[in-house]
Amino acid sequence: VKKVSRGYEAKAEKVKQAAVLGAGIMGGGVAYQSASKGVPILMKDINESAIQLGLDEANKLLAGQLKRGRIDAAKMATTINRIRPTLSYGDFATVDLVVEAVVENQKVKAMVLAETEQHIADDAVLASNTSTISINALAKSLKRPENFCGMHFFNPVHMMPLVEVIRGEKTSDATIARTVAYASAMGKTPIVVNDCPGFLVNRVLFPYFGGFSGLLQGGADFRQVDKVMERFGWPMGPAYLLDVVGIDTAHHADEVMAAGFPERMSHEGESIIDRMFSLERFGQKNNKGFYRYE
Ligand code: NAD
Repeated sequence: VKKVSRGYEAKAEKVKQAAVLGAGIMGGGVAYQSASKGVPILMKDINESAIQLGLDEANKLLAGQLKRGRIDAAKMATTINRIRPTLSYGDFATVDLVVEAVVENQKVKAMVLAETEQHIADDAVLASNTSTISINALAKSLKRPENFCGMHFFNPVHMMPLVEVIRGEKTSDATIARTVAYASAMGKTPIVVNDCPGFLVNRVLFPYFGGFSGLLQGGADFRQVDKVMERFGWPMGPAYLLDVVGIDTAHHADEVMAAGFPERMSHEGESIIDRMFSLERFGQKNNKGFYRYE
């Protein structure tokens, strides 16, 4: 068998100090996961209340572990102390890898990445947790695009094992290697994929949602479809999954997929995701999606 180099066999230095930009759902999750696995992390946001929410979430998860007897109080304290909240870039000079997890807006991300690049070491890695924005497009805002890649976690970060490591055209092997090593150190399963709309997972998931939409348009009941897919062996059906992901997030990703693969992914008329979006039934985040949440 011919051995194909995937680039990430390059020897990676261990990430000793990480940072995350954004203390939201994903940033807070990344901080918790990194700290739990022993890698200290700076957690930067632009407002104090967001940082507090990120810390509260980490504390809540650790308290759950403590209650179940998986960790003791000392371990809980050590873990939480590994998360250093900050509103500034002070101390970013010593960081090996930065995960960018700010809002899903290309202009904001480009600005934040370019700003961060000025505060980190020349060989530090910058990795974006974007779900839908092209890594090559974001790389254009950087002076050192070779040190940049995607690092796409799934929500909730502490539960979802997969991480897509996305290689842009200019990403170096060393950058991929370090990002893969960090994902592994976090207890995750990294896969390396090229930059394209939807990366890998969403290219599988969105045609599936398209099939689900077609079933409902044909008169199927979403509860029945969910039950069938659970019997098929999946942990949850498509309606519940969309509620967890967030219909607004799914709607945006659906548009990106349709623009990226017009012959396969664009659809005529209103899909079920469009319909739910226009009804502002965003799923668990606003307590009403396919199901109701109180
Ligand atoms: P969120 O809105 O919960 O959090 C974003 C955080 O970024 C906020 O706390 C905000 O204050 C902060 N922020 C904004 N500008 C900033 C700046 N200049 N510097 C530092 N912090 C800043 O968003 P989220 O759901 O955590 O998503 C973050 C990223 O992760 C997005 O790119 C999103 O597409 C991606 N993502 C989200 C999910 C998901 O299910 N939520 C899954 C995978 C990837």
